Amino acid sequence: MVCANCQKQIAEGSNFCYNCGTKQPVSGTAAAYTADCAPKKRLVRSTNDKKIAGVAAGLADYFDLDPTIIRLVWLLAALFAGTGVLAYIILWIALPPGPTGVARTSSVPSAPVTS
Ligand SMILES: [Zn+2]
Repeated sequence: MVCANCQKQIAEGSNFCYNCGTKQPVSGTAAAYTADCAPKKRLVRSTNDKKIAGVAAGLADYFDLDPTIIRLVWLLAALFAGTGVLAYIILWIALPPGPTGVARTSSVPSAPVTS
């Protein structure tokens, strides 16, 4: 391989150039290591966008879905199977509350309250 900085030939898989000391771009297994460093998504109750306890919004955050869809599915499950309410209560107890004051990345800023 060739150093990204000084273009001199260096050993394959080197992390640093031994001519100029420049860190070499990551590749292969090193790239997987960077992915591990990414913040892990945690399943938490949403404290910003909640109707009852934030379980639906938390799940929506986790699965990258619209919280309204989750609520609709949950409501239908509760109405037709009766298991939705129980599942909601279980998750309410089981899930830790998410961080407060952190805006959802996918949410559109809401209009300021005028009334
Ligand atoms: Zn170099």
